[in-house]
Amino acid sequence: MGLYRDEGIVLRTHKLGEADRIVSVCTRRHGKVRAVAKGVRKTKSRFGARLEPPTHVQLQLYEGRSELHVIDQAETIDHFRDIRDDLDRLTRAVSMLEAADQLGLEGEPNPALFQMLLGALRALAGHSGPLVVPGFFLKVLALEGFRPVVDRCVECDAVTDLVAFDLDSGGTRCAAHRVGTAISPAAVVLLGDILDGRLGQALNERPSDATTEVDHLATRALEHHLERRLRSIAILDRG
Ligand SMILES: [Zn+2]
Repeated sequence: MGLYRDEGIVLRTHKLGEADRIVSVCTRRHGKVRAVAKGVRKTKSRFGARLEPPTHVQLQLYEGRSELHVIDQAETIDHFRDIRDDLDRLTRAVSMLEAADQLGLEGEPNPALFQMLLGALRALAGHSGPLVVPGFFLKVLALEGFRPVVDRCVECDAVTDLVAFDLDSGGTRCAAHRVGTAISPAAVVLLGDILDGRLGQALNERPSDATTEVDHLATRALEHHLERRLRSIAILDRG
């Protein structure tokens, strides 16, 4: 690969040595990339704030001798200032960045994950309804091959009277096969909107008990998939 260019979303950074950082990026064509940004913590760094999450950046990188690549150039495509300047939106963005960080694999291109993350950040920067984050979680679960069943009972295929949602069996359940968490009819409709091609409509939903239900279900479904709680979600739950 040598020298290459790609665009990506900065997921997180951590310090390396005196002046450098390791930057994790969800790229469009190269999967998750971990790369060294040399001198980025110096006051006069040529990178400035361009490598802070959740910036959308155009990067030029080269493969180092270690597994870490090295960032040679970075140009900002979008700083997502509306997200950074709002603690609530930033917290929600971080939960999506954490999910992308845990789902993305180094050396395995995943352009759909990149595109979903970019779309979700743009939605969060825009109207920012309550279903942006749960919508992203459910969509990436579907991308991973763990799409929950939300239109019928996972036990008997009944399409009416869906009253429960069970993570272990993979979705909604009817009254006769009630296991798991109780779910309202309105929340079942929203889950269907998100997963059956009406995400745009779901993103315009106003906050309600049903959106809160879907938020909790999506978070738990993702956690269940990742088999460990995301740190940022734990922070939100305590709030
Ligand atoms: Zn049933």
